[in-house]
Amino acid sequence: MTTIIDGKAIAAGLREKIAGAAADIKAKHGVTPALAVVLVGEDPASQVYVRNKHAATEKAGMRSIEHKLPETTSEADVVALVRKLNGDEEVDGILVQLPLPEHISSDRVINEIHPDKDVDGLTEANAGRLILGKDGLIPCTPQGSVILAKTVTENLSGLHAVVVGRSILVGKPLAMLLLAENCTVTIAHSRTKDLAAVCREADILCAAVGVPRLIKGSWVKKGAIVIDVGINRIEEDGKTRLVGDVDYDGAQDRAGAITPVPGGVGPMTIACLLRNTVIAAARRRGLGAVDV
Ligand code: NAD
Repeated sequence: MTTIIDGKAIAAGLREKIAGAAADIKAKHGVTPALAVVLVGEDPASQVYVRNKHAATEKAGMRSIEHKLPETTSEADVVALVRKLNGDEEVDGILVQLPLPEHISSDRVINEIHPDKDVDGLTEANAGRLILGKDGLIPCTPQGSVILAKTVTENLSGLHAVVVGRSILVGKPLAMLLLAENCTVTIAHSRTKDLAAVCREADILCAAVGVPRLIKGSWVKKGAIVIDVGINRIEEDGKTRLVGDVDYDGAQDRAGAITPVPGGVGPMTIACLLRNTVIAAARRRGLGAVDV
């Protein structure tokens, strides 16, 4: 029997735990963890993401502070806002919604965020901490992916993990996290020769590519844990559908456990953002470790 990993339910459980931790911080220390989100421009998808993040933050009992700036805002003004938020004692987490308008360097802006408030985990400082195995803030989607894999088998040690995709946002940090779990990690990408053969070696197969149903069912080793990070919008049978990077129907029979799309990794991303916010709040205020 294949286990369908219910990311929606797991994310809901995690959000509840985070709300408990936030309430605890408030009760014991009189502090409400706060997340500041910066949105530049009117990109419709970004507006939806920011709205969802705002609602989820408030639902978890934390403060959500939104800064919406017009498309024409200069890079210097965005940097100035980030610096102001860095210095704001009440702000625990800062998230700059990507993509930024073309005239603004996202690299420049992201790296202005203080690493201890970098709840997306995208600064060079946090990427370095991840590689060095030091405490930092971990990118949300890779973090959510590993949490889902561990709901199947708590101990991933010694398993062969294949991560397809090497992006800074997902593939590379996911590979590092799996390495920290003592997996043997292979990173595959667009230049990999015989991707099918590489995938067939995987006990844990993670797809973060952005190509609908690239990974065929026959590429999945029997019993493997399949974590599908991909979210692709396609037109099929006259309908718009969301599909992953894995051919779900083909893979379902062979996988031991698999994340669906939607309802798998997707819901974990916001939950892990809230997790990072509560962790950041506790760490930078010296309140000790939080159990989330
Ligand atoms: P990206 O475009 O930055 O990186 C894609 C990676 O896939 C690259 O490293 C590339 O080498 C590799 N690749 C491309 N074509 C390939 C091929 N034919 N064979 C093997 N490798 C190939 O994308 P990303 O930001 O890492 O996102 C990947 C997917 O994950 C997308 O579908 C995106 O929508 C999704 N995503 C989901 C969430 C979530 O919350 N669930 C978050 C971020 C990204």
